Amino acid sequence: MSSATNTPQRDLYDVIVVGASFAGLSFASVAAARGLRTLVLERDPIVGGVVRTTGILFSDVFDIIEVPQRYLMNAVRRLRIRASGTETVAEFDSAAYRFYMADVTGLLQWMAEQAQGHGAEVICGAMFHEATRESDGVMRVTYLASAAEAGTAARAVELRARMLIGADGARSRVAQALDLDRNERMLAGAEWLVEGVEIERDTFYLVMDAQLAPGYCVWLAPHAEMAAFGVAGRQREFKPNESLRAARTMFSDVTDLSQMRVVERKGGNIPVGGRLKRVYRDDARGRALLLGDAAGLCGAATGGGIYPALISGRLAAQAVAQELLNGAPSAMKVYLRTLPQAGRLGPYLQIEDWIRFALDHMTSNADLQALVSIMASPEGNRVVRAALLETPIMGMDKAFFGMARGMFLQHPRLYGSAFRAAWQRLALRA
Ligand SMILES: Cc1cc2nc3c(=O)[nH]c(=O)nc-3n(C[C@H](O)[C@H](O)[C@H](O)COP(=O)(O)OP(=O)(O)OC[C@H]3O[C@@H](n4cnc5c(N)ncnc54)[C@H](O)[C@@H]3O)c2cc1C
Repeated sequence: MSSATNTPQRDLYDVIVVGASFAGLSFASVAAARGLRTLVLERDPIVGGVVRTTGILFSDVFDIIEVPQRYLMNAVRRLRIRASGTETVAEFDSAAYRFYMADVTGLLQWMAEQAQGHGAEVICGAMFHEATRESDGVMRVTYLASAAEAGTAARAVELRARMLIGADGARSRVAQALDLDRNERMLAGAEWLVEGVEIERDTFYLVMDAQLAPGYCVWLAPHAEMAAFGVAGRQREFKPNESLRAARTMFSDVTDLSQMRVVERKGGNIPVGGRLKRVYRDDARGRALLLGDAAGLCGAATGGGIYPALISGRLAAQAVAQELLNGAPSAMKVYLRTLPQAGRLGPYLQIEDWIRFALDHMTSNADLQALVSIMASPEGNRVVRAALLETPIMGMDKAFFGMARGMFLQHPRLYGSAFRAAWQRLALRA
């Protein structure tokens, strides 16, 4: 994958896509294959050059794209969860592999090659800056091209497009520039790739701690020959890198992290406020659509956003092609209305929102210890194993709510804590 293609001669595109990651590249591939003149702008110097994700793929992803085997590193079928301050461990395993650690750089570069193979152009080192709609209805899009030489200023480049696609992540500049909805609630995450750590190659290890990882957890996961040591939690309530430094002893029951060598550090934001409402506009201000994280399409509890990004990208491209090439005026409305049904995205995001609500109300390690002991019980183990390891997203439905509610109702201590929190929230609003 080259770092950049030549700037095109003709400056009018059907679509300009901002962001060459899961949402943008899946959109670009289908859009170009459907005959749209497609350009992708990516601020990083090469596609996949800066990895901001752990890269865990649910097996459901393979229903959407055929990921070549060479980009799948570790296959995982066991989860081990503990809360700080207790030795109780909830462990879940399944005979079938459920998660895969992806080589994210390789996978994104392969996706870019697929899109280019269909005719899309990709320009790297191109930071989207601004877009306005002209009197002829076309969008004028400005990006800043990275300076060719150190010490020289970035160059502003103007192009034109019939539609702008914001696939530029949780803090979308396109959403801001086009005055569309923006993510407000986020988790902050940091991850170190480390050497010198011995762990099972098919197991994820998670520790919940209300201070070091408020609302989420610290994790240790196999990553090819290395390990990924990461943390996420509610933004502004903790410092991710400080938490990681403090969390070195948390996995002492499974391995020794005292000698680990940090090879790479990464981090980013995870939108957890749910699906955004106003993600599309076609009026005097502009014609633009948000996808993936930029549209709030991310699992609010697990932070799993690759699957929604891929689905929204591919489906939106079909609708945009219908609208721009066939003049089907209702195609975008149909896309926005039917997206939740695609790949059971709606129920998946709803279940994740519900778990996020519960996690946000477990504010002490005592709450988390109670949660882990429920998960370690035979009934809890059955529910969590079914949810996380055995049920494909396509199979998720409201039965999960009933099953999970039944589990919580059997454990009034935890139910009481969540209930009290909800009551306090209502009382504050009143
Ligand atoms: C620490 C961490 C761990 C995660 N782990 C997982 C996981 O294991 N599994 C999972 O499913 N999800 C995970 N997620 C979430 C997942 O990474 C995202 O949901 C997913 O990457 C969203 O894809 P996207 O294409 O919408 O946006 P992104 O992957 O965020 O891509 C946005 C792209 O836009 C580019 N861009 C941004 N601004 C501009 C601009 N102004 N101009 C040009 N380009 C721009 C960026 O450089 C980037 O390439 C994790 C997130 C974090 C932060």
